[in-house]
Amino acid sequence: MSNQATDNRIDEITIVGGGTAGWLTATFLVTALNQQNPDNPLKLNVIVSPDIPSIGVGESTLPIMSSLLELLGINEAEFLLRCNATFKCAGRFVNWDVDPQGNPRTFITPFNSAEHINGYHPAYYFKRFGSLIGKPEYADNIFPSQAVIDAFKGPRTLDMDQYEGAIGYSYHLDAKLFAEVLQEIAIERGVNFISDDVLEVKQADNGFISSLQLKQRGHFPVKFVVDCTGFKGKIIREVLKEPFESYRPYFLCDRALPVIMPHKHPKKIRPATTATGLSAGWAWEVPLYNRAGTGYVYSSAFIDDDTAHDELMKHLGGGEPIFSPGVVKFEVGVSKRNWVKNCVALGLAGGFVEPLEATAIGMIDKAARWLAAYLPDQQVSPEIANQFNKLMDTAQQEIRDFIFMHYYLSNRLDTPFWRAVRYDMHEPDTLIEKFELWNRILPTPDATLGHQMFDWENYMNVLFGKGFLTNTHSPLEASMTLKPWKQYNDMLRNAKDNMLKHLPGHYDLLTHIRNSVK
Ligand SMILES: Cc1cc2nc3c(=O)[nH]c(=O)nc-3n(C[C@H](O)[C@H](O)[C@H](O)COP(=O)(O)OP(=O)(O)OC[C@H]3O[C@@H](n4cnc5c(N)ncnc54)[C@H](O)[C@@H]3O)c2cc1C
Repeated sequence: MSNQATDNRIDEITIVGGGTAGWLTATFLVTALNQQNPDNPLKLNVIVSPDIPSIGVGESTLPIMSSLLELLGINEAEFLLRCNATFKCAGRFVNWDVDPQGNPRTFITPFNSAEHINGYHPAYYFKRFGSLIGKPEYADNIFPSQAVIDAFKGPRTLDMDQYEGAIGYSYHLDAKLFAEVLQEIAIERGVNFISDDVLEVKQADNGFISSLQLKQRGHFPVKFVVDCTGFKGKIIREVLKEPFESYRPYFLCDRALPVIMPHKHPKKIRPATTATGLSAGWAWEVPLYNRAGTGYVYSSAFIDDDTAHDELMKHLGGGEPIFSPGVVKFEVGVSKRNWVKNCVALGLAGGFVEPLEATAIGMIDKAARWLAAYLPDQQVSPEIANQFNKLMDTAQQEIRDFIFMHYYLSNRLDTPFWRAVRYDMHEPDTLIEKFELWNRILPTPDATLGHQMFDWENYMNVLFGKGFLTNTHSPLEASMTLKPWKQYNDMLRNAKDNMLKHLPGHYDLLTHIRNSVK
C-alpha cells in the first residue's frame, strides 16, 4: 500500500506550555511517533511563555513512571542524578485515622502485588486468622515493603540493573529539573521549541483553532493543539469555553502551601511519600536526594493562610525553609471533555484533583500514551476524540473516587474539617455502590475491570489501612486453613530478613547510582 493510503495522520501538533505536562507530552510523542520512522516525522512544536512560570510542584509519582522512563529510553541513573530523584516504595498515611484508643494510626500503600496462596489472595487468610506476627496493620502482614521503608533501605541491591527492584517502586523528583531534562531530550529528538507568549487564539468558522497570535513571532497557524497552559486552560477554558466540572461537592481543600526544607538527617531518606492529616487538611513530605519537598493542602473555609503556615511549621518540627513559593490556590475538577474540536487539554489545564495520591503526572503519562494511540487523523474525526474522552473520563472519575475514599472513610472526628469531610460531602454513586459490596466481601480483581489508574489491590491497601474491611468477612474465608497462612508468613519473614540484610540504605544506593554516571 502506498504511503498516501496509509498516512492519514495529522502531520503537525503544537503544544502550548512547558511545565511537566507540556514537556512530558512532547517527549512522549516525539519518541513514540518519530523515533522508529525518522524519515516521515510528525512535526511537533512546543510554545512556552518565557515569563509565565510553571507551577514547579508535583514531585511524587505513581509506579507507572519507571515504565515511562524506560519507554522514553532514559537512563535511570542519569534521571536520578539530574532530577535529585529518590525511590518511592509506597504512600504512607499518618494520622488520617485513629485506633480504638483514639491514637493516630499509620498505614502504607505499597506498590507490590501479593503472592497468592492456593490461588487466593492472602487477605482472606489475614481476615480468617489475623496477624501471626503481632502487627495489626494489613500491609505489614502481606508485603515486605513496610520493613524496607522503616529501615530506610533502597529497593534494589547495588549490583541490580536499572529499572530492576526487589520491591516495586516509583520516584520522587524535582519537578523543575524533570521538566528541564524532558525539554532537552525532546529538543534533541527533533521537537521545535518556541519561547514566546500566546496572546490570542484564533478560531475558524467551524470553531477549530486555526492560529495563535504570538508576542514575538506574530501569526502562527496550527493544525492540532495541546493545551498545557496550567490551571487557567488558556485554550480549552478561555477560548473553547468547555465547561469545567467542579469537584467541590466532593472535596474541601482548595489551597496548598509548599515549603522546601533541608533534610533533618541527610543520610536517612525515607523511600516513601508521607501524607499526614493535620487540623484542616494534610501535609505532604516528599524526600529528594538533597532536600525535602513539604507542604500543607488545606481548606480555606476551615483555616486561614497564616494559621496554616504556623501549623505546618510546627508539624515540621522547626528548621529554616530553603524556599517557600507562597500559597497556591486551586480549584478541584476537570474539563467536561479534554478533547474538543482540534484541541486536547492535558495536565492542570485538563483538570486537577488534589495531590494526595500523586496521580497528576501519572495521568499526563496515560493521556500522552492515549494521544499517541488515538492520534488524530487529518480530518480530526470526532470518533477518535470521543474514545479519547471516554478514557480520560474513566481515569478522572477513578482518581476522584480513590482520593475521596481517603477522606470519607476517615474515623477522625476531632476537628470541624474532619467531621465535614466525613459527613457533609456529596458521595459519588460509583463508590458507594462498591462500598455496599465490600461491606460483604473483600474486593476481587473484577471489581476494577476497565479501570485505568488503580486496581483492586490498591483499593485493598487503602480499605484495610483505613479499617473499612475490619468487619467484612467474605464467605470464602471459611474455606481457608491455617497451615498455608503459616507458610506464607514464613516466606514473608524470609523475604523481609533477606531484604534487610542485602538491600543497601536508600541514601547509599542513590549515592552509588549517582556516582556511576560518567
Ligand atoms: C500543591 C500541589 C502539589 C502537587 N503534587 C503533585 C505530586 O506530588 N505528584 C503529581 O503527579 N502531581 C502533583 N501536582 C500536580 C502537578 O504539579 C502538575 O500536574 C504538573 O506540574 C503539571 O503542570 P502543568 O504542566 O499542567 O502546568 P504548569 O506547570 O503550570 O505549566 C504551565 C505552562 O504553560 C505556559 N503558559 C501558560 N500560559 C501561556 C501562554 N499564554 N503562552 C505560552 N505559554 C503559556 C507556562 O509558561 C508554563 O510553562 C501537584 C499540584 C499542586 C498544586
